[in-house]
Amino acid sequence: MLDVTGLSVAYGKHPALNEAVLRVNRGEIVVILGADGAGKSTLLKAVSGICEGRVQGSVTLNGTELVGLPPHRIVEEGVALVPEGRGVFPDLTVQENLTLGAYSDRAREEEGANLERVMTLFPKLGERRGQVVRTMSGGEQQMVAIGRAMMSNPALLTLDEPSLGLSPLLCKELFQNLSLVRETGIGILLVEQNAKQSLAIADRGYLLENTRIVHEGRAADLRSDPAVQAAYLGGG
Ligand code: ATP
Repeated sequence: MLDVTGLSVAYGKHPALNEAVLRVNRGEIVVILGADGAGKSTLLKAVSGICEGRVQGSVTLNGTELVGLPPHRIVEEGVALVPEGRGVFPDLTVQENLTLGAYSDRAREEEGANLERVMTLFPKLGERRGQVVRTMSGGEQQMVAIGRAMMSNPALLTLDEPSLGLSPLLCKELFQNLSLVRETGIGILLVEQNAKQSLAIADRGYLLENTRIVHEGRAADLRSDPAVQAAYLGGG
């Protein structure tokens, strides 16, 4: 489904990503782990077409080249981004936020059906459809952000550190929600600092260190890898 090959990004002369190669299959959760500044956000931004740097290499979704397309076309092709910090509209209601996610032509035509689908997946959003988002908990707001991205009926959902600022209990709920999204057949590309919980639900993972992917593997193997444990899992 998503194939990234030889993807490099530089901000001016400063390289932020070097020759990244990765794949996300349908119905698969893939996590990118890495320290601050490793290039994780840059990778997601390059996939979504919103990277300010110079992007080289290839990103294809089901064979269609995305590099060079404007962001709205990439959404049309089936890639949705939940940005760091969620990007919800705090003064609007849940339903208004969701509806704003249906801005692509394809999504607008199917807005009613998509809204129904998202509210079936996350019943809480249906129950709270009239609530102003500002008055919701961090975890609920994150659910709104994911629901809004789902309104474009994506094939691939990408998320930049969605667990940031959530309590352990809400993190657990967030990752359970991502598992629900996976069950619908959507592929998920997840950037996370929370290695433990993200590897617990992911199918595969990649380690990004200092602009390069240095390791990849099945999530279960990464969890038991001593180097990964030392760097990302607090020594196990
Ligand atoms: P974090 O978890 O801290 O967000 P990250 O792995 O997501 O880290 P990136 O945000 O991708 O890292 O940044 C990678 C490098 O590129 C960093 O050195 C950063 O300072 C630099 N960088 C990111 N965005 C820009 C930009 N718009 N202009 C210039 N340099 C940038």
